[in-house]
Amino acid sequence: MFEAIPEEKMIREFVRQVARQYDRKYWLAKAREGAFPDELWQEMAAGGYLGMMIPEEHGGGGLGLQQMAVLLEEMGHHGIPLLLLVVGNVMDAGLIARYGSEETKERYLPPLARGDLRFCFALTEPTAGSNSFRIETSAKLDGDSYVLNGQKMFITGVDASDHLLVVARTTAFEEVEDKREGLSLLIVDRHAPGITLQPLEMGVLHPETQFAVYFDDVRVPRSDLIGEEGRGTRYLFDALNPERITAAAVAVGLGRHVLDKAVNYAKERVVFDQPIGTHQGLAHPLAEAKTHLELAAVMTRYAAYLADEGDKLTAGEYANMAKFAAADAATEACDVAIEVHGGSGFSTDVDLLELWPYIRMLRTVPVSREMILNYIGEHVLGLPRSY
Ligand SMILES: Cc1cc2nc3c(=O)[nH]c(=O)nc-3n(C[C@H](O)[C@H](O)[C@H](O)COP(=O)(O)OP(=O)(O)OC[C@H]3O[C@@H](n4cnc5c(N)ncnc54)[C@H](O)[C@@H]3O)c2cc1C
Repeated sequence: MFEAIPEEKMIREFVRQVARQYDRKYWLAKAREGAFPDELWQEMAAGGYLGMMIPEEHGGGGLGLQQMAVLLEEMGHHGIPLLLLVVGNVMDAGLIARYGSEETKERYLPPLARGDLRFCFALTEPTAGSNSFRIETSAKLDGDSYVLNGQKMFITGVDASDHLLVVARTTAFEEVEDKREGLSLLIVDRHAPGITLQPLEMGVLHPETQFAVYFDDVRVPRSDLIGEEGRGTRYLFDALNPERITAAAVAVGLGRHVLDKAVNYAKERVVFDQPIGTHQGLAHPLAEAKTHLELAAVMTRYAAYLADEGDKLTAGEYANMAKFAAADAATEACDVAIEVHGGSGFSTDVDLLELWPYIRMLRTVPVSREMILNYIGEHVLGLPRSY
C-alpha cells in the first residue's frame, strides 16, 4: 500500500498561510469581477508551487501528483480552488515535460514554473461532446507550420492564458482506420491571428471564465507540435487521468470546506433549547457525508500514488473511480450543509449556494459520471460496450 508523503505538512501549511491573505473573500471578489486572481497566482509561483510537477532540470520541483493532490485538496478546503492550475500546470506541463522536444521543454516549462506563462487546455467541441475522437478541429501541415481551423467549447481561462494546448485532427476521422489515430497536440499562441474568443454565460461562480474559441486559418509553427503527429491519443491520457485525480482532490477539499461550515453551524444553532446537531436527523447525514468524503480522499491519494508509480492502467481505473467518488461525496456534503443551515442555507452570507454549482459541476466535468461508469463497466469489469 502507499505511504504518507514527506511534503504533506509543508504543502498544507503553505496553503494555510497563503489563504490568510488570499482567502475565500478575495477569491469571491475576483470571481464576481471576472478577474483572474493574479496576486494569489504569483504567491504560488514564489512558493515554487506552480512548478511543483515540472522536472527540476526545467526549473520545477520535480514532485508528483500526490503532492499536487494535497495542494489542490487544501486549496479546496479553504474555498480557493483554481482550475487553471489543473489544466495548465498539471495537464499541459505534464504533456510538455513527457513528450515535448528538448527545445519545447526549455521554452515553456521554466516560465510556467515561474508563473510568467499561463496555459489552458482545449479539447471539448460542441458537436463531438464526450466523444472526443469525433473532434473536427483540423490542423493541416503547410510548409513549416500547421494551419488550424475549427471550434472549441467551454475552454477555461483562455483570456488569462498565453497559450492553449489544443487537441486537433491532423488526419480526418473518416480517413483513419482506428478512431484513436490522427489526433495531435499543438501549443497555440493565444494572440495568434485568426483566434476569436467568445465568453460563455455560465452559472458557475469562479475566477476563470469559460469561452468558445474559434480558429480561422491560425498558423502554428511545426516546432509547437508535441510528440509525433497523429499519435496524440497515446499521450492524452497522461493528462486526462491526472486531470481526473486533481479534480477529485479539489472535490474532496471543497466537500470538507462545506462540511466544516455545516458542523460548526450544527453545534451553534439552538432550536428547541438544544443545538440542532443533537438531532440524529442531522448528525447522521453529516457523519455519512464525512465518511464518504474521507473514503474518496483515500481513493484519490491511491490513484495519485499509482500514477506517480507509472502504473498507467490501474492509475486510469482508480483516477476514474476517485473522481466519481469525490464528486459525489462533495455534492452530498454540500446538499447536507445547505439542509443543516435551514433558511440561512439560501442566504448569500453563508456562501453555500455560491459553491453549489461549482461542486455539482465536478460531477460532470472534466468527465461525466456516465462516461466514468461506462469506462468502469467496460475496462474494469469487462462488460460489453453499450455504445
Ligand atoms: C465549467 C466548465 C469548464 C470546462 N473546462 C474545459 C476546458 O478547460 N477544456 C475543455 O476541453 N473542456 C472543458 N469543459 C468541457 C467538459 O469537459 C465537458 O462539458 C464534459 O466533458 C461533458 O461533455 P459535453 O458537455 O459535451 O456533454 P455531452 O457529451 O453532450 O453529454 C451530455 C450528457 O450525455 C451523457 N452521455 C453522452 N454519451 C453517453 C454514453 N455513451 N453513455 C451514457 N451517457 C452518455 C453524458 O454523460 C452527459 O450526461 C468544461 C466544462 C465546464 C462546464
